[in-house]
Amino acid sequence: MITKRAHVKMAAFFVLNCVLKALSASVAWPTTSSTSVLDVLRELDIANAQIRTDPEAIALASADFGNVSVAATLPAAVLYPSCPADIAMLVRASCASASPFPVSARGCGHSIRGQASAPGGVVVDMPSLGRHTDSSARLAVSVEGRYIDAGGEQLWVDVLHAALAHGLTPRSWTDYLHLTVGGTLSNAGISGQAFRHGPQISNVYELDVVTGTGEIVTCSKEKDADLFDAVLGGLGQFGIITRARIPLVPAPARARWVRLIYADAAALTGDQERLIDERGALAGFMDYVEGSVLTDYQGLIGSWRSQPPSSFFSEADAARVAALAEKAGGVLYSLEGAVYYGGAGNTSAADVDKGLEVMLRELRYARGFAFVQDVSYVEFLDRVHGGELKLRAEGLWDVPHPWLNLFLPRSRILDFAAGVFHGVLRRDRAAGPVLVYPMNRGKWDGETSAVFPDEEEVFYTVGILRSAVADGDLARMEEQNARITHFCEDAGIPYWQYLSYYATQAEWATRHFGPGRWGRFVERKSKYDPKAILSRGQRIFTYPLA
Ligand code: FAD
Repeated sequence: MITKRAHVKMAAFFVLNCVLKALSASVAWPTTSSTSVLDVLRELDIANAQIRTDPEAIALASADFGNVSVAATLPAAVLYPSCPADIAMLVRASCASASPFPVSARGCGHSIRGQASAPGGVVVDMPSLGRHTDSSARLAVSVEGRYIDAGGEQLWVDVLHAALAHGLTPRSWTDYLHLTVGGTLSNAGISGQAFRHGPQISNVYELDVVTGTGEIVTCSKEKDADLFDAVLGGLGQFGIITRARIPLVPAPARARWVRLIYADAAALTGDQERLIDERGALAGFMDYVEGSVLTDYQGLIGSWRSQPPSSFFSEADAARVAALAEKAGGVLYSLEGAVYYGGAGNTSAADVDKGLEVMLRELRYARGFAFVQDVSYVEFLDRVHGGELKLRAEGLWDVPHPWLNLFLPRSRILDFAAGVFHGVLRRDRAAGPVLVYPMNRGKWDGETSAVFPDEEEVFYTVGILRSAVADGDLARMEEQNARITHFCEDAGIPYWQYLSYYATQAEWATRHFGPGRWGRFVERKSKYDPKAILSRGQRIFTYPLA
């Protein structure tokens, strides 16, 4: 009998084999275009940088967390830069070449569908920047200025620790901190703090970028504002971020971490909206508000994204939750919140307890199903990493992840819940976390390249974050994803993908950006990357620009 773990290992082996087979084709018998890329690279005068074309380097640069599609995205080479000037030189060489080749920054490859790839071109291994320079130079805190200058290749978890060494912290986070600064700023960077502080792209003072013409530009809202706005949420299309200046605030020491169980979606979303309402009675109390759909099975695959040091539920609690789920038809919801206190802030544990008491009285969760933990600020922010380690230990991290992330207008979230959580995904056991939480649109900057619903004050994010661990899972999940988007289209529910994937430019133009935004996106592309060199793995532009 083949165990699940053995099955996963075999699947990983199969994927690696496919990559290596495809590689032997592209490396041993290079195509005309990859030959010319290698010719250009030979001429580059980058003494401290390294360029590799061997199968191992190509395989590593081609793989991503999605583990869904690899074969079509192989680069000809990987650049390991020692400084931003190496990257600029590479981009200039591509620009000057008769057939400009793709260049893509690769943070950690946490993309889902080859977005960090450079088909036939060069992947820039961003972590290499940090290996060549003293880390204090790539993570420099200004206590007086209340900011940190972080290299684009730096992980948010390292940004956190560098800032905490001075009693300071950034305000806006992603759930998972082992992502690069440049990678999340190219998307948006969202988590349960975004309702109050906006996404990470709303929390940047200044950037250094290498544009698609190979210029190194420092930009901000005051200087080269259009480039600054273009790069933020720009899917890597306008420049490679080599430094970001992130604002800091005094750091708290601890977090009261709350989980409340709901038997219906309307009660959950009603309470979430009360908590994020800046004018309401509960305004300002919570520092973090998220939520998730609990299926009737909550094993590691279902819950890895939110792992406290010790479990929220005792065995008896878990049995009560299971009974409640059965009564509710198999679908429960959980509101996840946190209140920070201690440290440099003024809030004491007693203040938090008083506030929590009021809040718990007001909210409409299933009575008797409120669970509270007290953890350090770092334990709270780095909560997903514990789940990662557990999944890795089980051989369940490097599996296919056909994730679907959507933004939806507030007015349609309950229609979506009825059709998807209680329809398409109902009793879809052991598949992965499903997040659902609201954000205030006013905290998003419409000048950036990020696309979000802008007709209502509040919009929701839904993250259907599943792992395909068994035979047939991937095909079934892909089919369910298609059913979800078709359901939205049939029901007239507008949606926008976050961390989007579209196969053609026409889909990007019509489904993702829409006419107004697409026009601006194209105009910026022709200004900052006229030869469509950057981040071709996003499949938005090809050369020559249409
Ligand atoms: P990569 O995958 O390497 O690159 C992503 C894209 O950005 C590519 O197009 C690449 O070319 C471009 N890029 C990379 N670096 C740069 C740079 N320096 N300059 C310009 N372009 C660049 N996102 C959230 O918002 N919130 C979350 O809570 C969250 N949780 C996640 C949890 C996990 C386990 C995973 C795998 C992903 C999560 N994400 C989340 C998604 C994450 O933000 C994206 O995957 C993002 O791309 C960061 O990953 P990366 O740094 O590895 O970038």
